[in-house]
Amino acid sequence: MADTPHTRYMIASDQWRAHRKGCPPCRTDQHCPTGAPLFGQFARLQNDYLQHLRRR
Ligand SMILES: [Zn+2]
Repeated sequence: MADTPHTRYMIASDQWRAHRKGCPPCRTDQHCPTGAPLFGQFARLQNDYLQHLRRR
């Protein structure tokens, strides 16, 4: 799989969503110690991806 902003964003998104599904605190935006970095990475990669789209 090509390592592009989009694929990295999709991977982070999948990881974050998979965690949130089984984690009630994260579902209510009270990020637990495991969920906080996953959410942080998801938010950062989402931002990178959106920036990447805007530059084209
Ligand atoms: Zn969590």
